Amino acid sequence: MNPPIKKLLSLHSYKLEFQFILLTFAGIFLLPAFALLVITNTGIPAVSDRLASVNTTTHKIEIHNPSGQIIATIDATTTWPVHGIVTLGFGESDLPYQPYHTGIDIANSRGRIGDPITPFMKGIVVYADEIDWGYGKHIIIDHGNRITSLYAHLSEINTTTGQEVKPGDVIGKEGSTGWSTGPHLHFETRVFGIPVNPRTFIEGNP
Ligand SMILES: [Zn+2]
Repeated sequence: MNPPIKKLLSLHSYKLEFQFILLTFAGIFLLPAFALLVITNTGIPAVSDRLASVNTTTHKIEIHNPSGQIIATIDATTTWPVHGIVTLGFGESDLPYQPYHTGIDIANSRGRIGDPITPFMKGIVVYADEIDWGYGKHIIIDHGNRITSLYAHLSEINTTTGQEVKPGDVIGKEGSTGWSTGPHLHFETRVFGIPVNPRTFIEGNP
């Protein structure tokens, strides 16, 4: 083989290697974007299904850590925080606010505000304040075992941080504060801070 052709061939082979390296880098850089796409499109229901589930034999709620081990078994009384009609379920599209709804929206059947809100399970109030966007006037309760719940768009807050509360206690009134298109309660339950379908914890309908 004469030298110029040999040189040409080696250059060609470098070009291939260079393309391979470029593709690898492109793949590495695109991975987080791809992961984000998967998480935002399927992540919330998929992840949360693993964090809390009802044992079909014992009917108790089991809390799992992200690696799937059971870290707690809950045998507590749970109730819907308000009675009304579900206007938006968990995981449904809530654009332009959320691609996947992180809670359940419960509205008064006559569209009025002021229905009493009660904790879905006993716990300690860790937040009771107002922001003029998003959740508006809202309350967050810590139930232990990595479980928290959130009650948003309230018209009134009737509790304070540090208070011990239980189902039946009135902690606030249903309203339409923050990013709300009408009177309703946006109710969230979370495990490890990740939204979980409230129906995992509460039977029946609100
Ligand atoms: Zn909502």
